[in-house]
Amino acid sequence: MSTYFRTTQTGFQMPALIYPTNSLAPVISQTTIEYHYGKHLQAYVDNLNKYIADSDYENMTLREIVAQAPPGPLFNNAGQVLNHSLYFEQFTPAPPGNNRPTGNLKEFIHFDFGSFDIFKRKMEDAAASFFGSGWIWLTQEESGKLNISGYKNGDNPIRHRLTPLFGIDLWEHAYYLDYQNRRAEHVHRLWNIVDWEMIESRLDI
Ligand code: MN
Repeated sequence: MSTYFRTTQTGFQMPALIYPTNSLAPVISQTTIEYHYGKHLQAYVDNLNKYIADSDYENMTLREIVAQAPPGPLFNNAGQVLNHSLYFEQFTPAPPGNNRPTGNLKEFIHFDFGSFDIFKRKMEDAAASFFGSGWIWLTQEESGKLNISGYKNGDNPIRHRLTPLFGIDLWEHAYYLDYQNRRAEHVHRLWNIVDWEMIESRLDI
């Protein structure tokens, strides 16, 4: 979570994609990455830069914009830039065998959910019951406690003073080319490519 929070003279930059576009297949296809990252996220970044130009928001960080912007197009696009920056960097094409949280993250998940399997089921249940476009996030409260929360459209945990740890994009553009209406199957298969070390690095301990 570093470079994309910074503005430059030309505005916010696209966050780097840290793996080849074809490397998350078959969980997420090359075509989906090319559209999702290359077209959808690019559009959010371009719109954000358009809306902040010559405004008080021009010199704010992305987090500040997301926290302070009134509801509307600026907030929607800033929220989606933040959501997707976190989203794309949380996957790995080469997960270890038996891919699961370790270390502090494992301890937190066991303490707040009981087990990794219960946590996964709760994330999948939250995704399955979410209506429309939005996100399911594993979040952390200031107290340290982990929670699962759903957010509509471009809303996100930072707007609600929570730390975003792991996000599932429930917009159809995230899965429809690969899974059509089978959103639950898409969500279930994401566990195969989660970079738990990256998620743990977001934890406040
Ligand atoms: Mn998306």
